[in-house]
Amino acid sequence: MCCDGTLFDLVRLEPGDNARRLAQLGLPIAAARGRQAARFPQPCAALCADGSCRLYADRPGQCRAFECGLLREAKAGRVSFAAAARRVTTAKRRANQVRRLLRALGDHDEQRALGERFHRTSERLEAGTADPAAGALYADLSLAMHRLKLEAHTHFHTPPAAAPESRVAGKLRRG
Ligand code: SF4
Repeated sequence: MCCDGTLFDLVRLEPGDNARRLAQLGLPIAAARGRQAARFPQPCAALCADGSCRLYADRPGQCRAFECGLLREAKAGRVSFAAAARRVTTAKRRANQVRRLLRALGDHDEQRALGERFHRTSERLEAGTADPAAGALYADLSLAMHRLKLEAHTHFHTPPAAAPESRVAGKLRRG
């Protein structure tokens, strides 16, 4: 979920990252613009079907630095690995519910992060006149997205108090 667009919309490159090399390795790097750092979108082009990273040895700094908050809690013994696995299953179920509702509302762009898809769908529906059925689906989608974000913030994102600010901000979530 850290790399498939569920938890994050994009990854920012850091000064030590070699953008040219990462682009050669297949990451669609968007060049730095103004005050915006170079970045690449999620879901990540290097994410393999088995959940591994194709570029693991060469992955960018933010990918190296990020530690899942839930994994850290489990490693510290503050939550059992069985309970952590159940939490992951719940988050995946919530993410799949968001995907189902996005598709029902006409967004089939599986190559974009959930946060970005939700944002675009919200803009589209709020700009037009959605029929009652679409309006009901959108209400369900908003609730499902809210629950997913809450789950992510509470259990998966690294708490700011325990990590340098750049570590939390580097993999960027929307909203
Ligand atoms: S480069 Fe690897 S670790 Fe970084 S987001 Fe992509 S798949 Fe994940």
